[in-house]
Amino acid sequence: MESGIRKLVVIGSGPAGLTAAIYGCRADLEPVVYMGTKYGGQLMLTSEVENFPGFPDPILGPDLIMKMKSQAERLGAELVQEDVKSVNFGLHPFEIRTDSGVVRALSVVIATGAIPRRLNLKSEMRLMGKGVSNCAVCDGFFFKGKNVAVVGGGDTAIEEATFLTKFANSVQIIHRRDDLRASAALKREARSNPKISFVWDTVVTEVLGGKRVEGVKVKNLKTGEEKVLQVEGLFVAIGYDPSTEIFKGQVELDEKGYVTVRNGSESSVPGVFVAGDVHDFRYRQAITAAADGCKALLDAEKFVKQRLEALAVS
Ligand code: NAP
Repeated sequence: MESGIRKLVVIGSGPAGLTAAIYGCRADLEPVVYMGTKYGGQLMLTSEVENFPGFPDPILGPDLIMKMKSQAERLGAELVQEDVKSVNFGLHPFEIRTDSGVVRALSVVIATGAIPRRLNLKSEMRLMGKGVSNCAVCDGFFFKGKNVAVVGGGDTAIEEATFLTKFANSVQIIHRRDDLRASAALKREARSNPKISFVWDTVVTEVLGGKRVEGVKVKNLKTGEEKVLQVEGLFVAIGYDPSTEIFKGQVELDEKGYVTVRNGSESSVPGVFVAGDVHDFRYRQAITAAADGCKALLDAEKFVKQRLEALAVS
């Protein structure tokens, strides 16, 4: 093989990317991981994680990422804190371009994740992880016996609200229209749940609180009426945007921009594999992303082995 060609490039540094890197080291693929300038993904914005196996005591999201990063580093992964600017999957070896130059690789794992949409309020970002959350499964447990609100009217919002009723005293769903976008079955489930109520035609204008959420200021779009909802948690569930801008025209994406996956972890391009929220809009958990990173790597390992054997014969 020509010198300078990498066996594996991983793009992304959440649980999916770092697990792919760990498995990549163990498979002797000597991975280089483009972590992004803001590395770590959504766990970096999470407070305590209580549902990642192996941690009997809660661990902070950023600490969990640091442990994964250290593990990948110890095993020999080359971690680069740079953004990938563009890729060319039309050639093989593939080309991955950053500000430092172009790297060529036999295989790539795309693990760039998805970004939860924000309300774009300063107070929302200030209180993120302090009562504002994007993940009921991750944080719902911390709202036992409390009153919370969920923003959104799609499947995610309704699922999150229903999940939260296991812990919370009450869940108010704040939706900007008077009709839910969610599926009929989810709507029925939410409407029949005595802990759930709806605040229609309404948007959140401010999240209130100093150290933690103490309420949310809302405005009715039809009447203009403003009021404060007394809640201690705000779950923003208004959709996700997969981070796939640089892959447009390079691999197949679905109508919402998620990378389409077939046959385990394969993208539409042989040798380019996919892991985590960049394709998975359903589960979106650190543990499912990590499992995906493992699967992608096992598939990449087979691909690289075949390519190296073919190169040795030719
Ligand atoms: P979504 O379907 O795009 O719904 C987003 C919701 O947030 C909509 O109700 C939208 O309002 C509202 N919204 C968007 N921007 C807003 C803003 N700036 N302020 C206030 N509200 C805003 O997203 P999703 O619920 O995350 O679902 C994404 C995809 O995953 C969908 O295809 C969904 O079916 C799928 N999914 C499936 C399952 C399941 O099958 N169990 C579970 C979760 C998700 P409008 O309605 O007014 O546009």
